[in-house]
Amino acid sequence: MDLGIKGRKALVCAASKGLGRGCAEALAAEGVDLVINARGEEALNDTAEAIKQRFGVNVISIAADITIEDGQKAVLAAAGKVDILVTNAGGPPPGNWRDWQREDFIAAMDANALAPIALMTALVPSMCDAGWGRVVNITSVAVKSPIAVLGLSNTARTALTGYVAGLSRDVAGKGVVINNLLPGFHATDRIAALDGLEAQTTNSSITEVRERRMASIPAGRYGKAAEFGRACAFLCSEHVGFIIGQNLLLDGGSFSGTL
Ligand code: NAP
Repeated sequence: MDLGIKGRKALVCAASKGLGRGCAEALAAEGVDLVINARGEEALNDTAEAIKQRFGVNVISIAADITIEDGQKAVLAAAGKVDILVTNAGGPPPGNWRDWQREDFIAAMDANALAPIALMTALVPSMCDAGWGRVVNITSVAVKSPIAVLGLSNTARTALTGYVAGLSRDVAGKGVVINNLLPGFHATDRIAALDGLEAQTTNSSITEVRERRMASIPAGRYGKAAEFGRACAFLCSEHVGFIIGQNLLLDGGSFSGTL
């Protein structure tokens, strides 16, 4: 299927690795020019170069922390007007509710709610003026199916979800489509770290942890960043004008519910 977005320009945040990179690559495969961001300059530039070589699109890379105001300003200045925005950042650390203080919640809110909200506030108005725009927020399965040790994530992502529910409907009539993608377990560095932690706390090997987790996923495996990216590219396509404010779970069937 031609997604109809060749020649569009996208800002993809937190995209040197993992799910963000999967989204950047899938958009580049459709002929979308990119502005990509992450904090580590070396990995980011390597990713930018690899995408340019493979897909022949323009790629601007801007190393900055997207969770702080200065980082957002730098990224927005480098990006200028864009047609497509994919928000993403690292997830909050796991822990125990007894230990979390106000500052832990503020950090999680900054990273996983207020940063995407600031980016949408900056970029959605020009999308509305142009009569076309697409936003995909990478959130988490935790929005639908909370994970106790990721309570900071459960909290911040649910806040973002509530915000998007209103904003997406407010701008739908202007040709701007905003949706959220909710990853379940995907094979990325983030999950490797969480698998390592689970192995330590349950006194198991990493292989045992992975086998247990995969057995609990109806698809029988972890998701891949590339397939996550293709779902993102579809939600950024010409064909999604009637899909508004949705939360699409990509979890291999782990969440057991009829709806
Ligand atoms: P990952 O493999 O660890 O990749 C994270 C990417 O984000 C890297 O490019 C990293 O580069 C960049 N990044 C992290 N913090 C950043 C910041 N403050 N500013 C700019 N860039 C930043 O993670 P992932 O698995 O792709 O996860 C992406 C998001 O999905 C996270 O919020 C995660 O919690 C969520 N999620 C993932 C899964 C999963 O199974 N993978 C499941 C549920 C939710 P630098 O470190 O160089 O900045």
